[in-house]
Amino acid sequence: MKILALHTGGTIAMKENAAGKVAPDAGNPLLTSAPNLPTGVDLVVEEIFNVPSPHITPEHMLLLKKRIQRAEAENFSGVVITHGTDTLEETAYFLDTTIGGLMPIAITGAMRSSNEIGSDGLYNFESAIRVAACPEAQGKGVLVVMNDEIHTARYVTKTHTTNVATFRTPTLGPIGIITKLHIRFMQELTSSDRIDIQAVNGLIPIVKGYAGMHGDLIEALSESDIDGLVIEGLGAGNLPPQTLPALKKLLAKKVPVVLVSRCFNGIVEPIYDYQGGGQELQQLGVIFCNGINSQKARLKLLIAINSQLTEVERKSFLEE
Ligand code: ASP
Repeated sequence: MKILALHTGGTIAMKENAAGKVAPDAGNPLLTSAPNLPTGVDLVVEEIFNVPSPHITPEHMLLLKKRIQRAEAENFSGVVITHGTDTLEETAYFLDTTIGGLMPIAITGAMRSSNEIGSDGLYNFESAIRVAACPEAQGKGVLVVMNDEIHTARYVTKTHTTNVATFRTPTLGPIGIITKLHIRFMQELTSSDRIDIQAVNGLIPIVKGYAGMHGDLIEALSESDIDGLVIEGLGAGNLPPQTLPALKKLLAKKVPVVLVSRCFNGIVEPIYDYQGGGQELQQLGVIFCNGINSQKARLKLLIAINSQLTEVERKSFLEE
């Protein structure tokens, strides 16, 4: 069984120097590592790029997507991606929403660089190879494999700045665990729509809601050339009333506005019927995007505007 490993950089590819600072090294240590491979696995390794994950853009994600699509034609049975953890969930979500049905794709990283005590990189890399080579991983979309746990790209998020147990799935928990002997999946997944795209054009900022928020930032954005806006609203999906005039201006320009919640758990719904409440936001044309965080909603909207979807189809794709 041929598995393709695509290295993209991140802490997993870095080293700590004598001053205690962590930085990319001349050579990616993963390229000279010798992971233990499951029986019958033939690992082909490529360094597609080597960047810290705050440098990752949707263009990098598109390149990865195209490489994985070529891998299918080259008879690979699964793909492993190593990636910086800061934006790992975004790359995972992008790939899941575009080509997640293609073959098992496991993405991993490390919280401790390659020469630090307790470095988790090589261990996570081996775990991800095991998951990508596991027949049960088929049909589960892109999987985030870290610290002996398997999470879906759709719901996982980085929750801690430094702890190795940083990746968590709020509300639902991991879908599987990795033990010495087995890969165990413990949840059935609901299906989700996927759309393949060939470009990632568009400016979509994220704005966070807060008590006392005014419309000034949204106002400034409505005067610039944005292609969409994601707002992290309050609670079940509400905004301070002072934001409404600017929001209406933006919506009048036909700019899609997507609402998620700044809450860690739960989904947004148009429940509240007061000024700035979800009811009013929905009536104004704000799209309620459920169950994903703002950084993923931004990618979902980016995928939607680069697809052939009509306005009505785009709304239902985003609300799904
Ligand atoms: N800042 C690093 C990065 O995302 C963190 C990591 O890899 O864990 O590239």
